[in-house]
Amino acid sequence: MNGLPDMISRKDLRHRLVMLFEHAPDVNNQNRPTPFVELIIGVNGAGKTTTIGKLANRYKKSGKSVLLGAGDTFRAAAIEQLSTWAAKIDVPIVKTKQGHDSSAVAYDAISSAAARNIDHVIIDTAGRLQTQTNLNHELKKIVKVCGKAANGAPHQKLMILDGTQGNTAIAQARAFDEMVGIDGIIVTKLDGTAKGGALFSISNQLELPIFYVGIGEKQDDLIEFSPDAFVDSLLDGIYQEEEK
Ligand code: GDP
Repeated sequence: MNGLPDMISRKDLRHRLVMLFEHAPDVNNQNRPTPFVELIIGVNGAGKTTTIGKLANRYKKSGKSVLLGAGDTFRAAAIEQLSTWAAKIDVPIVKTKQGHDSSAVAYDAISSAAARNIDHVIIDTAGRLQTQTNLNHELKKIVKVCGKAANGAPHQKLMILDGTQGNTAIAQARAFDEMVGIDGIIVTKLDGTAKGGALFSISNQLELPIFYVGIGEKQDDLIEFSPDAFVDSLLDGIYQEEEK
C-alpha cells in the first residue's frame, strides 16, 4: 500500500471531490442588467472592503465601468478605506458621513450608475451595528431600497468569509443567509495552498457557490474559483504524472 493512489484512482477521487462543489457559480453570465448591483455582506475584518476593491479592479480590467457605494456608514474608517480603494483603481464612489442612512447611499449609488450607464455597482454594508436586531433591520432595509432604485436589485448578495476562520465563518454565513439570503461566497485570506481545505467545508456545509478566492492584500489578488482547477492542483500533490 502506498497511500491514496493505491486505494482510489485519480479519476474517481477527482470526480468525488469536484462533486463537493456542486453549487457551481456563473460569474460570467452575459445577460446582466445595467447596472448590475451587488451587495457585499460580512463581518468586520473578513475582508469586505479589500474584496470590493479587488472586484472593482477585476470588472474594470474586463472593460466594464464600476461605481462603489460606501454603505457601511457605521464606521468612518470603512468609508475612508473604500474611498482609498476607489481612488487607487480610479472608479467613482458614492458616500455620505458616518452615521447617515446607508440605504440612502445605496439608492444614490444605483441611481447615479443608472444615469451614467455604469455597468457595475458594488455596495458595502455594515458588518456590525449596536445590536444584531439593528443589523438585521438595516440589511433588510438596504435590500428593499436597492429594489426601489433598480428593478431586481440587488442582483447578487455576496458574503465575504475569512478562510482562516473555519466553523466561525460558516456560522456567520448561516446567520447572514437567514437575514437576507446569500447568493454566493467569496473566501478571503487563502494565500498559500495549505489553507485551501476550508473551501470543501464551506461549499459542502453552506450549499452555496464559491465565486472567488482572495489570495493576498493587493488589487489583483482575487481569483475566480474553479472546482476543477482547485481539485486538480490538490491531486497533483498526491498522484504521479502518469496516473492523470
Ligand atoms: P473589512 O473590515 O471586512 O472591510 O476587512 P478589510 O477589507 O479591511 O480587511 C481586513 C484585513 O484583511 C486587511 O488587513 C486586509 O488587507 C486583509 N485582507 C483582506 N483580504 C485578504 C486576503 O485575501 N489575503 C490576505 N493575506 N489579507 C487579506
